[in-house]
Amino acid sequence: PPRPVDLAVAAVAEGAGWTDPSAYVRALGDRAGRGGVAIETNTAVALGPRPGAKRHIRVGDDGADGDPAAETRAFDAVVVAAGAHARSLLADAGVSVPVVPYRVQALVTQTDYDGPMVYDATADAYLRPHPDGLLAGDGTEPVPADPDDYRREADDWFREDLAGALDERLARGDRLDGGEGPDRGERVDRGIDDARAWAGLCTATPDGDPLVGPVDSEAGDPTLFVAAGWQGHGFMRAPAVGEVVAEGVLASLAGAAFDGPESPWIGAFDPTRFGSDRFDGDEAFEIVEGMSLSNRTEEE
Ligand SMILES: Cc1cc2nc3c(=O)[nH]c(=O)nc-3n(C[C@H](O)[C@H](O)[C@H](O)COP(=O)(O)OP(=O)(O)OC[C@H]3O[C@@H](n4cnc5c(N)ncnc54)[C@H](O)[C@@H]3O)c2cc1C
Repeated sequence: PPRPVDLAVAAVAEGAGWTDPSAYVRALGDRAGRGGVAIETNTAVALGPRPGAKRHIRVGDDGADGDPAAETRAFDAVVVAAGAHARSLLADAGVSVPVVPYRVQALVTQTDYDGPMVYDATADAYLRPHPDGLLAGDGTEPVPADPDDYRREADDWFREDLAGALDERLARGDRLDGGEGPDRGERVDRGIDDARAWAGLCTATPDGDPLVGPVDSEAGDPTLFVAAGWQGHGFMRAPAVGEVVAEGVLASLAGAAFDGPESPWIGAFDPTRFGSDRFDGDEAFEIVEGMSLSNRTEEE
């Protein structure tokens, strides 16, 4: 269990839980399929023009113009939820969104752990039980990453930092070999050096809130929507946001204003809130890791 001895302040989230992301995504996909949704995987898409009321997309091996296998399809509405590629995908349609990818890291080590999910705000690290032992992470690299060319292996400094954080946070007795815990100050071997570790991309926005809603309203009725920029929290928000997007797209297609009284869209997530006068795609902004106590409390 976590060691409570040196905690000055702690908060307990009674309803917190964790899940297996890929199993959950498969389950949601199956459910959507049963509801009549056609799902095409491994199919690259590129945004095309909007010649009339419909938005064209190119679907093909690489979504490219010159691809002989590519075909054009027309839709009433297209939602770009392309994660780290959302910005470049939308740029092809002339839409600029401040969604910048950055690396975060995680690892799974075979230390038994059946305690609660923990976020250590001092060490900037989290840990939770995992079917193979313990999953821990953060390892945020707060600089822009290229979604087509970034380092997928975890960094040595990440393993080192995390080994220290786990030593701080976990009871001394949690040793791989089940032996007695060493004295304070001596590192416990939790198999961090051999742990399966990786880096993935999250997406930052200038204010840490996502961009969810229509992005081409000024050209008439909207046909193009975005749902991106989760600042590391897109998985847990996906079920609720999915419902907002579904209802919001239908409302927008029916002519409802984004900020109308009955609008399902969330005002704080307005994708046009930064304005093309404030953001035309090249400006840099500070990437703040999503799991942080300071970035919100200092603003308020
Ligand atoms: C190590 C790590 C730990 C995380 N932990 C958590 C957590 O504990 N809780 C949490 O809520 N979130 C967590 N996240 C963040 C979470 O993974 C993301 O917020 C979430 O996956 C975003 O979902 P998405 O569908 O918007 O984008 P993605 O999951 O990135 O999916 C976008 C999809 O679009 C596809 N795509 C891109 N371009 C094209 C194209 N041109 N044509 C067709 N398809 C395209 C991509 O292949 C991809 O499948 C973590 C992320 C990482 C890396």
